[in-house]
Amino acid sequence: MPRLAVQPPSSRSFATDQPDMVAVLHRVFCVGRNYADHAREMGNDPEREPPFFFLKPASAVVPSGATIPYPPATRDLHHEAELAVLIGTGGADIALGDALSHVWGYATANDLTRRDVQAQAKAMRRPWDMSKGFDNSAVLGTVHKAPGDLGERELRCTVDGDLRQRSRLSSMIWPVPDIIAHLSRLVTLQPGDLVLTGTPAGVGPLDRDQTCRVDIDGLDPAIITLA
Ligand code: MN
Repeated sequence: MPRLAVQPPSSRSFATDQPDMVAVLHRVFCVGRNYADHAREMGNDPEREPPFFFLKPASAVVPSGATIPYPPATRDLHHEAELAVLIGTGGADIALGDALSHVWGYATANDLTRRDVQAQAKAMRRPWDMSKGFDNSAVLGTVHKAPGDLGERELRCTVDGDLRQRSRLSSMIWPVPDIIAHLSRLVTLQPGDLVLTGTPAGVGPLDRDQTCRVDIDGLDPAIITLA
């Protein structure tokens, strides 16, 4: 048995609503522009082009309730309220009709974004990684075991109590089954993969000492405070 040359930090586990059950995350995939009103506010045409994806490292995920430092290398940190889907059963080329059977559960999430870094990356045709995949950039609420579809539930984001984002999950351009089917043609999905499903209009800045709360009806919130 060889000795390890390096020892990465051990994977963190995240709370679920099941007794004595936690979730360890494998990868975090995020969908870009999945609500027409947000696509428009970012200056894009919300026509139904295939969904596109970017990643955050699983190590970037922080549990709801954490206080984090204002991230370095940005002056324009934005909130993005999103539904997160935890994959329970992996697979490739998953059929649309089978997609929901691969879901373990759902959580609220916040896809924190260095908007200034992202704008520069877009302008220079460079990757988004450093605008999206930085430390503490994904806030995750309790994962609820909820097979099936969440239907018309409302997604909301407040900053210090002020409502910033509000939409129905049914307003997604690509619903959860479509996202899973598309993504599974690009990578083999595996248990512990988390998929953030995009954000509606109303994204905006977060400042030091502010608390941002994402709610989805029936799920625990994803709350983050910036130090
Ligand atoms: Mn997002």
